Parts: sequence; structure tokens; C-alpha cells
Amino acid sequence: MLFKRYFSLVTFIIIPCFLVHAQNQVTVTDVINKIKSNVTCNWADVTVDNIKAGDEQTKVTGIATTFMATLEVLQKAKAAGCNFVISHEPTFYNHNDDLTLHKGDPVQEAKLKFIKDNNMVVWRFHDHLHQTNPDQVYEGVLTKLDWKKYQSNGHFLKFPAKSLKNIVTEIEQKLNAKTVRVVGNPDMVISNVGLALGASGSNSHFKLLSSPDCELLIVGESNEWETVPYVQDAITIGQKKALIVLGHADSEEAGMDYTRTWLQKFYPNLKVKFIEAGNPYWRN
Ligand SMILES: [Zn+2]
Repeated sequence: MLFKRYFSLVTFIIIPCFLVHAQNQVTVTDVINKIKSNVTCNWADVTVDNIKAGDEQTKVTGIATTFMATLEVLQKAKAAGCNFVISHEPTFYNHNDDLTLHKGDPVQEAKLKFIKDNNMVVWRFHDHLHQTNPDQVYEGVLTKLDWKKYQSNGHFLKFPAKSLKNIVTEIEQKLNAKTVRVVGNPDMVISNVGLALGASGSNSHFKLLSSPDCELLIVGESNEWETVPYVQDAITIGQKKALIVLGHADSEEAGMDYTRTWLQKFYPNLKVKFIEAGNPYWRN
């Protein structure tokens, strides 16, 4: 009887306390290693997915996932009790987060100081987030748009016939996207869509656009002197083409919300939050 009581005390109080305590001891390195061992792709030797600021041995109080670790996002993460920020895009204004480019600049210095003063760590999860299966950005964005049911082949979608105008409205509502830009006839009826979220580059745009399975190309951002005039000329020679430029943030942000749910599964007792960086543009 006494043994039974002792056993239940150990099982129901001491062991769970120990487990919670053990989870509280998770370091940034532990989380990064957990991610490395759970993506489906090989971890590349050369990658931008590394620590941008802070100490890798820092004990994690909470994880914040975000599209872009702006200073405002870092402040929100701190207020939410998350000292480990996982950002999809760079922190210091260039792809490789080369700190020498803005060395001594008050903007960069203020950000570095905030991270240091608050014992925070920023790590980038970009290359492998796209390379793992499923690509977490596409998974998150297609889920938010409720378009997974339209996925056909690779980055192509097969819609029930919809007008370009209605597709734009649907995107604006579901992604809360306020600065969508469109090329093409608003009344054009579309079934075949190509997706190139983020800044995937003109070559990937051309590859999608050259397919008959792409009447409408939806991109995050594009060079206005490459993809855009190609679509204009395609329309002029009578091809059925259109282009939606979502903006980088609106085209990828939902992916980091997906990453949050993915990470939470590994750390059910740790605070894991998604902090929206948001689309910074506005219009009247
Ligand atoms: Zn991306």
C-alpha cells in the first residue's frame, strides 16, 4: 500500500515536474539540432540558416517564429517572453547578414544592442525551410488560402474557373493583403495558376509562365523590368496571361505560422509563438 502510494507520487508529481524542468533547460543549440534532425533534406554546409546574433548556449524561455525579425518583432517577442527568434528572412538588411555592410550605423547598432541587452538569440530558417518536404512556406500559405485542394503538379494549381478579379479579392481577404498589384484583364477567366512565393527570381517566373499550365502567375516580388514586361508582351501577342504581385511578406508570412505548429510538436511544454511581421506598405 505504502509502495503504491509512493509509486503514484513519483509517477504523477515528481516525474512530470522533472520533465517540465528538463524542457525548460532546452538551449538554442538543442532547438536547432531538433530542426536539423527533423527536416527531410540534408543540411547544407553553405547556408544562411545560422545564428545572426546571440549565444547558442542560451537557455530558451520561449520561441518566436516570424517572417522578418524587425526590431518591432524582437520587441514583441521579448514582451511575449520569447528569447529565441526564428526568422525566415535576414535580420541585418542583406542576404548573408554581413554585419560589416552597416557597421557603426545607428539602425544596426540599436538592433544588436536590443538583442544583447535582452539576452536574445536570432537564428534564420530559410533554405532548409523551403527544401524540406513539404516546403513550409507553401504549406502554410496554401492552407491559409484554402487552396491545397487545388494543388496539381509542383507549383501549379488547377482552379475551378474564376475571374482574375475574384481571385484577387479572395487573396486580399484570406491573406489580409492590402497592397496586391495586378497585370492583366480583370474579367479574364482562369483555371491554371503558377505559384512563385517570395523572391524566387525571374528565371523561375519565366519557367512557370512558359507553361500552358500557367495562365496566372502569382509571385511574392519580381523585378519590374523582367517578369512584368514579359507578361505585358505575352498579353499583347494574344496569350492568356496575368500576373499578381503579392509582396514578399504577404506571400510568405503564413509559412512561419506553419513552422510554429511544426515546432510546437517537438516542444509541447515550451512557449512557441508566431509573431506577424506584417506587410509594411500602405496605400490610400
Ligand atoms: Zn522564402
